[in-house]
Amino acid sequence: MTTRRQFLTTSAALPVLYNFQSTFLDADEVTKPTTQVILSFATEVADEPKDFDHIKALAEFLTKEGLIGNFHLTGDYARALKHHGRLDVVETLMSHEIGFHCNHHGAEPFMAGYLEKMNWRDGTSEWTRNELPGLRVVEELFGRRPVYYTTEFNKAPQSIFASCQAGLPTIGYLTVPTRGHGAVWYCNSFVPSCESAMGVERFFNAGLKPEAEGHYQEKEKYYRIKFDRFAEKLKGQKNTLIRAFQHSYKTYAVFPFEHPKPNIYREDDLYYEEHPHYLDLLPKAKYEKGFDLFKRIIKYYAERAAFTSFSEYRRGFRDNQGQWLSLRELDEVCALLSNRLDAYVSDTLSVSPAEAFGMLVRVLRVYHEKGALPEKVFMRNLIGPTSPIPDKPEQGDVHSAELLKSLRLIDRAIDNEQSIPSSIKIAGKTVGPGQFLNGLRSLYLATRKKRSPQTLTLSGSNLPVIANEPFFTEKTLTKDRYPEGFEGRRICQMCRFQSWSWKPALNL
Ligand SMILES: [Zn+2]
Repeated sequence: MTTRRQFLTTSAALPVLYNFQSTFLDADEVTKPTTQVILSFATEVADEPKDFDHIKALAEFLTKEGLIGNFHLTGDYARALKHHGRLDVVETLMSHEIGFHCNHHGAEPFMAGYLEKMNWRDGTSEWTRNELPGLRVVEELFGRRPVYYTTEFNKAPQSIFASCQAGLPTIGYLTVPTRGHGAVWYCNSFVPSCESAMGVERFFNAGLKPEAEGHYQEKEKYYRIKFDRFAEKLKGQKNTLIRAFQHSYKTYAVFPFEHPKPNIYREDDLYYEEHPHYLDLLPKAKYEKGFDLFKRIIKYYAERAAFTSFSEYRRGFRDNQGQWLSLRELDEVCALLSNRLDAYVSDTLSVSPAEAFGMLVRVLRVYHEKGALPEKVFMRNLIGPTSPIPDKPEQGDVHSAELLKSLRLIDRAIDNEQSIPSSIKIAGKTVGPGQFLNGLRSLYLATRKKRSPQTLTLSGSNLPVIANEPFFTEKTLTKDRYPEGFEGRRICQMCRFQSWSWKPALNL
C-alpha cells in the first residue's frame, strides 16, 4: 500500500505536483518568494570524465526547470573540457553563471603557502602570475569573463584583494561575518552572506553498502527541513539568502574515498599524467537514484524561493565605487567612531573604518594646505593595513601641527597602496592606525566647531570591533590536505588587519 507521504516523495509523482503548484502560484499572483537561493557548483574534478557528464546533466536539468546555477570552473577543468572536446558541456553551461575557482586546484604552487611567506605586495603579484592564466582559459572557452571567484580552500585576504584587482570583485564563498546583512564588502570585494549554507551533495551511505530501508526518504526529509528552517529564520530579515552548494564527486563516487586521494600540491600536471586511482564510481542505478533525489529537492526549493546568480544578486545592492560625502555625513561617521572603531552604516551609506581613515586624512590635509575644510570629500575604497601593526604601540599626545604636517605623505601612500598604514611614526612615537584615527577624528570634529586644539591624544584600539568575530580571531589555518606543518598564522593575522576593510553592503 502506498502511504500519502510515499506518494509525495516518489520521483514519478513529484514533477506533476510541482508543475501544478507552479501554475497555481503564477495564476494567482501569490506573494513572490522573498527567500533567495544561490546554487553553486565546484567545477573542479578535471581528471574524471564522469564529472563532465554530471555537470552537463546538472546544467540541463536546471535549464529545463528555468533555474539558474552558478558553476565555478578551475583553469584545469576548462583545459580538460578542451582536451576531451567536450563542447557539449560548454554549451549546456552557457545559460548559467560562470565563475572562476582557481587555476590548478591543488597542484603546485600551494597558494596559502606562498601567501604566508610573502609580503602583501609580492603575494598579490604572485597570485596574479599563478592564477590569471587559469582565469584566461575559462574566459576563452566561454567567450565571456567569469563573474565571481571562489578561493581555492583558503581565506587569505591577499587572494580576495588580488582577484578584485583582476576584475573579479564578487566572492563565491567566504564565511566572513555579515551581522545579518545579505552581503558585506571585504577587501573591496562583494561577499554574499554564507550564514545559511548547506551542501546538497551527500545522498548515499558511506562505502558501497546498500542503503537501509527508508534511506532516501530520510535524506529528502532532512534536506527539506534544513531548507525550511533557514527560510523561517530569514523571514522578514535583511538577509534573505540561502546558499546551496555541491561538490560533484560526492554525488557520483564513493565518498568518503576508500583510496587515498593523490597528494596535492605536486609539481606535475595532475590531469594528463597517470596518478593513483582514488575515485570509485557508484553503480549507475545508485547514482541515478541520488540524482533523482537531488532533482526533487531542488524543485522543492524552487517552489519556495527564487534562484539567483551572483551577478543578479549583486545588482540588488548599492554599488561600492567611491562616492562623495558631505561634511555633515562625515560628522556622523565621526560620531560613531567617537564611540567605537566600527563600520558606519545608514540606509544609504556604508563606510569601513579604513575608508573613514582615508577621508579624514584627505579633509585635514586640504585644511592644512588651504586653510579651510573642503565642502565634500571623496570616499576612496581602501583596505586595511597590509603589514604588521606594532605589538606594543606607544601612547601619548602629539601637537596638532605635527599631525597635520604628516598628512601629505600619508595621503600619497594611501593612494599608492589602496590601503591604510599599519603604523605611523610621529613625534618620535610609533602608533597604530586606530590611535592615529582617533587623533584625526578629534582634530576634525574640533575644526568643524572652529576650535584649534594644541594637542591630540593618540590612544585606543588598533582593530575594529568586528575583529572579535571568530573569522578574524582564528590564529591558525590548517586543513588535512595542506602540506604538513603548515599553520597559516600570518594569513590569519592578515585577515585580522583586513577587518578594517569590512562593512555591510546596502540593499537598494
Ligand atoms: Zn574546490
